[in-house]
Amino acid sequence: MKPGSTSLCGMSDLSSLTSSAYQQALEVIASVEPRIAEATRQELADQRSSLKLIASENYASPAVLLTMGTWFSDKYAEGTVGHRFYAACQNVDTVESLAAEHARELFGAPYAYAQPHSGIDANLVAFWSILANRVETPALEKLGAKNVNELTEADWESLRAELGNQRLLGMSLDTGGHLTHGFRPNISGKMFHQQQYGTDPESGLLDYDALRAKAKEFKPLVLVAGYSAYPRRVNFAKMREIADEVGAVLMVDMAHFAGLVAGKVFTGEENPVPYAHVTTTTTHKSLRGPRGGLVLAQEEFAADIDRGCPMVLGGPLSHVMAAKAVALAEARKPEFGTYAQNIADNAKSLAEGFNKRGARLVTGGTDNHLVLLDVTSFGLTGRQAESALLDAGVVTNRNSIPADPNGAWYTSGIRFGTPALTTRGFGHDEFDKVAELVVDVLSNTQPGTTRAGGPSKASYVLAEGVADRTHAASAEMLDKHPLYPGLELT
Ligand SMILES: *Cc1c(COP(=O)(O)O)cnc(C)c1O
Repeated sequence: MKPGSTSLCGMSDLSSLTSSAYQQALEVIASVEPRIAEATRQELADQRSSLKLIASENYASPAVLLTMGTWFSDKYAEGTVGHRFYAACQNVDTVESLAAEHARELFGAPYAYAQPHSGIDANLVAFWSILANRVETPALEKLGAKNVNELTEADWESLRAELGNQRLLGMSLDTGGHLTHGFRPNISGKMFHQQQYGTDPESGLLDYDALRAKAKEFKPLVLVAGYSAYPRRVNFAKMREIADEVGAVLMVDMAHFAGLVAGKVFTGEENPVPYAHVTTTTTHKSLRGPRGGLVLAQEEFAADIDRGCPMVLGGPLSHVMAAKAVALAEARKPEFGTYAQNIADNAKSLAEGFNKRGARLVTGGTDNHLVLLDVTSFGLTGRQAESALLDAGVVTNRNSIPADPNGAWYTSGIRFGTPALTTRGFGHDEFDKVAELVVDVLSNTQPGTTRAGGPSKASYVLAEGVADRTHAASAEMLDKHPLYPGLELT
């Protein structure tokens, strides 16, 4: 990194050092399996030449990426810092302690666990720790047992009969919740009796009164807040109040918006960490780190979370924990605050761009990092819109909208996120242009027909010339804001 560069945490103006590091790494890979080296080069070319608007993706810094490619990958380190089931873990201990320390400091959390391999794994750790803390331990105490090993098979049988499944209340998938918040195809919907809360059908906004009423009736053990596709902020003080009123544990999954918390765009009642008993997140979305997860918690849950491996996790990925430490160190720099504010400002620009061109947005706008476009007004399904946009070099994903008429597979929405292109340096004008390009593509796409001649939910016809003109207009912006500038591969 050049001294004095005003980079967004290492994203601009790479030194020739990084170029030669990657060049040589690819040559080493090519000597064993050239097709993997080639795919790796091609992936960089593809990411450089498309508009990445997937709300859950980003571009990690070279420091983060390089940290993942080391011999830490070769270590086994089940257990916790200083308490491993394997020998020779002193350096892994350094790595895991630093990752946890940065996480605690960055988010102001009393406790952090850096081992989860992904967001889903972080949620599994959280669920088990809540069950252990609030159900298993009190039940053992009632039976006069100190730990589970003292229970006989008969004790277990009576416990299961008495306790049954515990209850979880989470946000419904079609209003923006996540699969792991009690949805049936996920284990969270099978290990818990689950119910869901949603948004107001008129405004599309979270309806706290309806949520409170549902919580009072259902009396969940766990109230889950957090989302993947809700374009608004959440008041976590209110969430905690509701959890307290019904004696529930508040678990917040900030997988999508952790970068906005880290960058202090979400503060006060919009910052979940002080209000939640347990907070989970991914590290690779707006937080811009390696693929992985984190659990933050109040002290009371620490001992049970520490049992995450081997309870629900395999051996920790030490190389990824090292990269988490690097990414969290980046997120503690003041530049990251600027980056996070830009993410939110850019989402507003994108939403305004859609609104002024007459496109319908769920909730009418955004105040976080994502925008959810209802494509039914273009006469399209989400599937058709997603494919037509991809043909034009605009990478998005289809997403359900509240009460989606096309179901969870075809859907009626397209979700856009600003974290990735904000990392490249896109600003207000570029995001307005992105809205213009998207509206141009969608207004020039017609639904196709099935073989039998009926209306199709998947096939589509994009008018001639539209993909070309979109590619040309995006290339102009992408060239102005190169991805990994200075990184040249020969
Ligand atoms: C992305 C996401 C996850 C899952 O993260 P993975 O790393 O893919 O396992 C969990 N919860 C929410 C809210 C998410 O958006």
